[in-house]
Amino acid sequence: LTELNWIIKRAAMSPTHTALVNVHSDEHWTYKKLIGRISFWRNVFTTEGLSKGDRIAVLSPNHPELFAILFACGLDGYIYVPLNWRFSVHELQYVIGDCQPSYIVFDELMEDVANQLSVSTSRSLSNSDATVQEVFQSSVELKPEDPWLLIYTGGTTGNPKGVILSFEAVNCNSINTIISWGLTEEDTTINYMPLFHTGGINALSLPILMAGGTVVIGNRFDADMALRATDRYEATISLFVPTMYQQMIQENYFKQSSFPSMKVFLSGGAPCPQTIYNRFTERGFKFKEGYGLTEAGPNNFFIRPELAETKKGSVGKSMIFNSVKVVDEEGNPCGPGEVGELYLSGKHIFTAYWNKPLETSAAFDDGWLKTGDLAKFDEDGDYYIVGRKKEMIISGGENIYPQEVEQCLIHFLGIREAAVVGIPDEKWGESVTAFIVLDDGIEYEEEALLIHCRKYLGSYKVPKKIVILSELPKTHVGKIDKKKLQAFEPSR
Ligand code: ATP
Repeated sequence: LTELNWIIKRAAMSPTHTALVNVHSDEHWTYKKLIGRISFWRNVFTTEGLSKGDRIAVLSPNHPELFAILFACGLDGYIYVPLNWRFSVHELQYVIGDCQPSYIVFDELMEDVANQLSVSTSRSLSNSDATVQEVFQSSVELKPEDPWLLIYTGGTTGNPKGVILSFEAVNCNSINTIISWGLTEEDTTINYMPLFHTGGINALSLPILMAGGTVVIGNRFDADMALRATDRYEATISLFVPTMYQQMIQENYFKQSSFPSMKVFLSGGAPCPQTIYNRFTERGFKFKEGYGLTEAGPNNFFIRPELAETKKGSVGKSMIFNSVKVVDEEGNPCGPGEVGELYLSGKHIFTAYWNKPLETSAAFDDGWLKTGDLAKFDEDGDYYIVGRKKEMIISGGENIYPQEVEQCLIHFLGIREAAVVGIPDEKWGESVTAFIVLDDGIEYEEEALLIHCRKYLGSYKVPKKIVILSELPKTHVGKIDKKKLQAFEPSR
C-alpha cells in the first residue's frame, strides 16, 4: 500500500480517458496529461532540493493542478499540506507555524497572502503548463506508514489540528470506498468540495481516480452551475454538504431536470435536514447520507442507494475493511438502539496530529479512534449519527441531542434552517436555544412553532428560547458554526 504507482498504471491502461475536468474552462485532462503534470512538479521539487518528509504547502482554490502536486508529493515522499485559502493571514500563519513547510505553491490571485507567510521558497501555480513525458523512478525508499497528506481539520470545535495520513491510510480509504460504493472507470463526480479538506480529496476524488473514473472540479460553489454540470458531464455520484443542497433545491434547474446519469446524491460533513432528503426522494432521486471525519478516511460506511427509502437518515453499514462500534460512558459496547460514542478502527485511520502528542493519545482508546460523535445502530446493523458528544445539551439532568430538535424545527413550514445549542443557565444547567432562518415572505408565529415542537418532542427538549436570524454563521467548509451561536448576544 506504499505504492503510488497506481496512478501511473491507470494512465498506462487508459491514457486518453479523462481524469480531471475544470468545470469553469471545460478543460479536460486525460490521464496521460495528468502524468505529464505530475512529472513536471516532481522535477520542480527535485530541482529545489527538497527531501523526503519536507512539507509542501498549497494555497489555491480548487483546480485540477492540485492533484498533480498531490501525486508529485506522494511519489517522492514529500508531505502535501493543502491550506484553507479562505483563512485570514493570521489563521494561515498559525497553520504555517505549526507545520513549517519548506515550499509553498500558490494561485496567483493569492500572491499577496502567500508573500506574508514565512515560507522561504515558493512558486505560482500559473508559471507554466508544461508537461514532462518521462516518468522517472523515485530515488527514495517509501514505507506504508510514511506520511503523504497533512490535512487541517475544519476547526469546528477549536484550533485546526493537522491530521497526518499515511500512504496506507489514504490508499486503504480509496480501496475500501471503491469496493463499498461500487466505483468503476465509468464513474464521474462533480466536486465542489474544497480541496483543502478531506471531503474534496479523499471522499470521492482519489477513490474515483484509483478506479479510473473522472473528477470534474468546480471552484466557488454555485448551485445552478453544479446542477447543470451534473447533466453536462453525465455525473454518476457526487457529494455535497447540506448547505449546498439547501441552495440546490431552490433552483429552477433542480425542478426541471431528471438527472438521468446520477446513481446517487451523497450528503456528508454535517447532519442533513430531512426536508432536503425528502425533496430529492420525492422526485425519485437516490439520496444517501454519508458520515466521515478527517481522522478516519473519511469514509466508513457502505452507500447503498437502494436502501435510501427504507433506511432514512441512516449512514449505512460498516465498510469491508474497517471496524465500527458504539460504546457507553464506561467503554462497554452498546446494544441496538442505545446511543453511545462511535469508535472506529482500521488501516484508514490517521497516524497522529502534527505536533500534538497529548491530543493524539486522547483521541484513541485501546487502538480505537474515539470520534467524539454519538451514534446508534439498528437490528440490521445500520448506523445512525445522533450528534456530536460535545454538543449534547444537558438540561435539568436530561440529555438532549440538538440534531433531533433541529430536525423537528425544520419540519415546520417556513423554516429554512435551524440550529440548536445549549446556553448556560442557572436553573437548568443548560437551556435549549434555537436559532432559525425563515423562508422569504413567511408569516411566523412562535406559539404555533412551539405547539409543533410539543407535539413531536418531550417537553424538556422544546426550545426555551427561539431566535430568528437572517442567516446562520457557517465555518469555512459550510458547517453551521455553533461556537459563534453559543457566544451569540442579541443586539439590543
Ligand atoms: P474540528 O475537528 O476541527 O472541530 P470538524 O469536526 O468539522 O472540525 P471534520 O473532520 O471536517 O472536522 O468533520 C468531521 C465531523 O463532521 C464528524 O466528526 C461529525 O461530527 C460531522 N459529520 C460528518 N458527517 C456527518 C453526518 N452525516 N451527520 C452528522 N455529523 C456529521
